[in-house]
Amino acid sequence: MAIKFNILTLFPDMFPSMLGQSLAGKALERGDWSYNAVNIRDYATNHHKNVDDTPYGGGAGMVMRADVIEHTLLSIKKPSRKIYLSPRGRVLTQNLAKELSQEDCLTILCGRYEGVDQRVLEAHEFEEISIGDYVLSGGEPAALILMDAIIRLLPNVMGNAETADNESFGSATGGLLEYPHYTRPAQWMDAHGVTHKVPEVLMNGNHAHIDAWRKEQSEAITKKVRPDLLEVKFS
Ligand code: SAM
Repeated sequence: MAIKFNILTLFPDMFPSMLGQSLAGKALERGDWSYNAVNIRDYATNHHKNVDDTPYGGGAGMVMRADVIEHTLLSIKKPSRKIYLSPRGRVLTQNLAKELSQEDCLTILCGRYEGVDQRVLEAHEFEEISIGDYVLSGGEPAALILMDAIIRLLPNVMGNAETADNESFGSATGGLLEYPHYTRPAQWMDAHGVTHKVPEVLMNGNHAHIDAWRKEQSEAITKKVRPDLLEVKFS
């Protein structure tokens, strides 16, 4: 199954950016996903090509115009599920990324300035998604992050279907954070002259012990840095 992203943006050249590299880049070449970055400015209605205007009620900054956004949206034949990236939205989680990875098309609106005229969001039923509790200058980096989280969950992209389940927030990890990883060399001396060994349990080949140790580590790390995830698990 392939997924298509329509991206409504004032900066189409920001795509595919990092998604043209590595696993996502290979998946793009294979046709596992595709994108169509549409320049909102091409759909401006006046001869100055204005896409924004001052906010009614006063206040700082500019607001993206409803008519311009609607023209841009209507240029897309089948927009399917429509997403407006916004700090005000439902916060992106692994579960939401998984859900979105089942879609065959997503249309993503990237805001700039103070955001977008509310009326067009309501008239065209945009679903608002935030990538976290902080404010970016524009929706483009948020779109790239959302797309990355989705693309790596597509069949064949990671190679091993179990990988995502075993990662942080995955089903095999019980929705918790992942345990720590180690690789060769087994003994490593850091720049301060201190030698660090790999935990013994990982070296003895006893998979029951390894699994138990990893589960314990996963719970301890989660308790320390994200106790809210444990509350979700045990509530
Ligand atoms: N005035 C807005 C507010 O206070 O919520 C912030 C606007 S921000 C400067 C410009 C654009 O960046 C937004 O319209 C949105 O598309 C994008 N953006 C900023 N922070 C984001 C976040 N945390 N998640 C998703 N998109 C974000």
